[in-house]
Amino acid sequence: MIYLDNASTTKVDLEVAKVMEKYFVEEFYNPSAIYYLSSNLKEKIDLAKQQVLNNFKIDYNNNLIFTGSATEANNLAILGSIKSNFKKILFSMGEHPSVYNVAKNLKEKGYNVVFLNLDKSGKVDINEFIKEVSTKDVSFISIMHVSNETGAINNINKLAEIAKEYNPNCIFHSDGVQAYGKINVSLNNIDLYTISAHKIHGPKGIGALYIKDYKKLKPIINGGGQELNIRSGTENVPAIMGFSYLSKNINIKENFKLVQSLKDYMVMKLSNIEGITLNTTESNSPYIISISFDKIRGETLVHKLEEQDIFISTGSACSSKKLGENRILENMGIDKQKIIGSIRVSLCKNTTLDEIKIFCDKVIDAYINLKETLGV
Ligand code: PLP
Repeated sequence: MIYLDNASTTKVDLEVAKVMEKYFVEEFYNPSAIYYLSSNLKEKIDLAKQQVLNNFKIDYNNNLIFTGSATEANNLAILGSIKSNFKKILFSMGEHPSVYNVAKNLKEKGYNVVFLNLDKSGKVDINEFIKEVSTKDVSFISIMHVSNETGAINNINKLAEIAKEYNPNCIFHSDGVQAYGKINVSLNNIDLYTISAHKIHGPKGIGALYIKDYKKLKPIINGGGQELNIRSGTENVPAIMGFSYLSKNINIKENFKLVQSLKDYMVMKLSNIEGITLNTTESNSPYIISISFDKIRGETLVHKLEEQDIFISTGSACSSKKLGENRILENMGIDKQKIIGSIRVSLCKNTTLDEIKIFCDKVIDAYINLKETLGV
């Protein structure tokens, strides 16, 4: 099997699974109990937080909480910050549904929500961004770090710096799910940052939110008061320990180099084939590559490759059911026919050059055969 849908989820590393096993069957206690077994666990959770924050070169100071998913962390970041007196709120058109749908909801409730368009490369249009922040009435901004659809990378620190020049009190959130553990991240000007474990070979059902100032965030679910009363619910200790192990052992630089070389090969192989367009640039994350095929449907190609044990996607898992529709590619100005014929290939540290060579050969063959069969 060749699995190239790693932006959707990744295979859990065996060592991570082993670390987790211990906390399922040995140290299975509830960290909130008052006996020492539990207080030991509480300490380990704090250490896990430090381990995650080390990747941002930040010390733990009540500034990270674990959640049940990145979706939850995104919802918490936005809904936990929103106040009724908020003025303008900015989102990008490239956001994952766990941000975009929250934004749409806020707009329906009457908030002054503005969606920023993307440029041709899939990043937030910088001119539009400056125009919107320069009105000096912006309260909250959410702009993702790396696009789960195209791999486009927003310079979030620069954007936050510009925004705060005009709006010193505005809160800047970024969804870093496709960035954490894959590219170096610095959070200098960022107030809230969402991350996830299952995109980097950790377990599903665990996300985290970096919170510069936890006093500014209110809970969106109420309960026993865990996680500084911001996220009640018994902590998912096995997943937290798995996330911690990953955060400590991840080799961002080495993995990036490998994946970049795989992307370069793919670009070299596919870019000269008539009818194939790579919706990527050199500065995109090499982990996610969007490709368009003229005159065929991306969905048909996905199934043709599936017959040969190669697994890719037509777009992000959440939107792949609505065929021919892709809010993000559409906003980038890609034409409808190319959107219908688009696929997403996403790599990971375990992807090999042999797999990419096979993928390229098979996808070219499948495309040529499909065009012949359809007579297009
Ligand atoms: N944000 C981005 C950029 C994502 O790619 C994903 C998952 O696809 C999420 C948020 C949501 O993650 P989860 O489904 O784990 O909550």
